[in-house]
Amino acid sequence: MPQNLLHAANLLTTSDFHDYRASPERGIRLLEGFCAIPYPIATSGTYSISTDFPAGIPRSTARSGKILFSMTNFENIADLERRYLLQTYSRYPVAFERGKGVFLYGLDGKKYLDFVSGIGVNALGHAHPRIVKTIRDQAARLIHVSNLYYHEYQGPLAEKLCALSGLDRVFFSNSGTEAIEGSIKLARLAGHRAGGPEKSRLIGLDGSYHGRTFGALSLTGQDKHRKGFEPLLEQVTFVPRNNIEALRAAVNDNTCAIVLEPIFGEGGIFECSVEFLQECRALADRHKAALIFDEIQCGLGRTGTMFAYQTLGVTPDIVAIAKPIAAGLPLGAFISREEFASAISPGQHGTTFGGGPLACRVALEYLAIVEEENLLGNVAKVGAYLTHELQQLVDTYAAAREVRGRGFIQGIDLEIPSRPIVEQGRAQGVLFNSTHDTVVRFLPPFLLQEQHVDKGIRVLRKFLGRKRRRAA
Ligand code: PMP
Repeated sequence: MPQNLLHAANLLTTSDFHDYRASPERGIRLLEGFCAIPYPIATSGTYSISTDFPAGIPRSTARSGKILFSMTNFENIADLERRYLLQTYSRYPVAFERGKGVFLYGLDGKKYLDFVSGIGVNALGHAHPRIVKTIRDQAARLIHVSNLYYHEYQGPLAEKLCALSGLDRVFFSNSGTEAIEGSIKLARLAGHRAGGPEKSRLIGLDGSYHGRTFGALSLTGQDKHRKGFEPLLEQVTFVPRNNIEALRAAVNDNTCAIVLEPIFGEGGIFECSVEFLQECRALADRHKAALIFDEIQCGLGRTGTMFAYQTLGVTPDIVAIAKPIAAGLPLGAFISREEFASAISPGQHGTTFGGGPLACRVALEYLAIVEEENLLGNVAKVGAYLTHELQQLVDTYAAAREVRGRGFIQGIDLEIPSRPIVEQGRAQGVLFNSTHDTVVRFLPPFLLQEQHVDKGIRVLRKFLGRKRRRAA
């Protein structure tokens, strides 16, 4: 994206743009909804600049030759995807070209403040110099060998994750959902060993999210994700979050695992209470079931401690992680206590890609950076500031209902749909994420500073509408 584009675009007249619009043979197409006034087009489109017109295209005015609306633009990208991709995503209409720190840069030339981190993945922001260097170096040495062989990085990474989690053994996957699948398989093996094939039942929570593969989907307590894919695993009982009575009624000697997110992510940023987690722990112990925490979204630093359960004070038998661990490269894992880990033997689980040298070395670097740059301290400090500022919005605006979460996993629940707010935020250069229909979710990079929070809050304020009436 040339630096001088906006300047150049400002020089164009309205009629220049009309000229372009009227010339389909030039391969020029404007995005839907764009008007033919130079400045808005220049700030919303994607362009390539050419100082010379291609041969055969007449100049309509002297200045209009400065900008050609190229087909290598956003519309072209979206067009191709519409034609060739399985239509599973409803993407926001923006394409990104690069990022640096807490900012992303669009093909439209705009700079965006990133409160989303690729759904909690880019905890170190974008293009962190140490991560870039590590990837470059390792890519030139060895990217993949498969799990037929050893390499230098799986062992040290597993050792580090065990030390951080207080658990004993690690399995590396490629994604979050696979980390959940592996956790369930391990719990089944341990269950069968302890109580025979009957000991196979799973407990999940209403409103939870664990992924899209069949096991994880079977544990996901949201109809919108399950519908159309039945039959799913039938041995799952759902209980409402924080309902201790229902939990007690559901867990028995046939339970092999209780699976939960300590803080719901996709489900709208709801925390499990400490009392509920303690009861889960006690029941799992009593019935020799595995307590499995899905920390794929809330873990690895997002709450201000390396694992959310260290904030909440209840340790699981197995924890599933993914998202930020390899700073954007696909890597997931589950970490288990020996008592459960010992139920599995060679050949019973595996993956071709999981735990490759590139991802594992980058993950070691991720953990080192989080430690050396004291990013958990920053998450705690700026997270508390974010909570305070969001609470101010709730106190001020009638449309803002509640703030939930902690650290850098927070949400503000609204009386109105959150997606339009997210759209408006994007137009103002701030990326928020909408979840659970009415929640604006914040999963920012751990590098975020208070001035970035201020910018986000300023933008949110514009769209929250009417102020609360103050009690006299
Ligand atoms: N569990 C939780 C809590 C998640 O937030 C996600 C992803 N949003 C998953 C599981 C699934 O992870 P993935 O998309 O990497 O398979």
